[in-house]
Amino acid sequence: MRIDLHAHSNASDGTDSPAELVAAAVAAGLDVVALTDHDTVAGHAEAAEAVRGTGLTLVPGAELSCHVDGISMHLLAYLFDPAEAAFAAERELVRTDRFRRGRAIVERCRELGAPIDWEQVERIAGAGSVGRPHIASALVEAGVVATVSDAFTAEWLANGGRADVRKHETDPVTAVRLVRAAGGVPVFAHPGAVKRGRTVSDEVIADLAAAGLGGLEVDHTDHDGPTREHLRGLAAELGLFTTGSSDYHGHRKTVRLGEYTTDPAAYEQLVGQATGAAPIRG
Ligand code: AMP
Ligand code: ZN
Ligand code: FE
Ligand code: FE
Repeated sequence: MRIDLHAHSNASDGTDSPAELVAAAVAAGLDVVALTDHDTVAGHAEAAEAVRGTGLTLVPGAELSCHVDGISMHLLAYLFDPAEAAFAAERELVRTDRFRRGRAIVERCRELGAPIDWEQVERIAGAGSVGRPHIASALVEAGVVATVSDAFTAEWLANGGRADVRKHETDPVTAVRLVRAAGGVPVFAHPGAVKRGRTVSDEVIADLAAAGLGGLEVDHTDHDGPTREHLRGLAAELGLFTTGSSDYHGHRKTVRLGEYTTDPAAYEQLVGQATGAAPIRG
């Protein structure tokens, strides 16, 4: 079984449509793929339609933007009821604020001499939940930086960078409770991704575990070997399962779908904890 539990479509900042993502997952030889767009479930219906007859299983999910002690972090949520009102309202709040903040970042970039504009970012984002990677693509188009990843520096869009503007992000303990109340399973995404900025302490992870966190994403391209070993030990201590995932974003990142995968036993635990929705078997 090849299981990849973290992938983005163009419903957020990936470059594949949900149907293209499903086709790419089949081509990559995956048995299970999770669609986890930032703060939105807008890609679920198209992906569910696309898995029909493929033999691929789709795990509907999302990746919620959170913030604690001045540190941004991401919470993956799987198999929640997308209609549950409180969690749906929180996703809506984050998505709406992404527009205000996107415009503010573009304004900052212009002040700093980058010839980009909001219409360009809107064209790049399309219907997607707008984020810094779309603005990074605009900076690439304008010839300001060579690659999307080169835009994530202190000079431009990195956390705390010259053109970084904060968006509304949920307190993670609240987020864990919202996901559970919607019947979903919360998993801390790339908890040790130091290249993105400061990461949270083990004490915060223990607090999240006490609030109902289900697992830690351990095998991820942004984690080195010692970080993975540490996180595996911490997960065992706290009674959490561990996952491995690509965090695929199409051509906006270099990681390939299925480059990191999740152990079937951990996947069984995840599915066993969910009451909000079931995996969709194609
Ligand atoms: P946003 O959700 O708008 O705050 O943007 C965060 C997204 O930017 C993350 O989900 C990543 O996809 C991307 N990102 C963050 N840091 C980096 C980085 N150092 N290199 C490339 N992409 C990054
Ligand atoms: Zn992303
Ligand atoms: Fe993330
Ligand atoms: Fe992600």
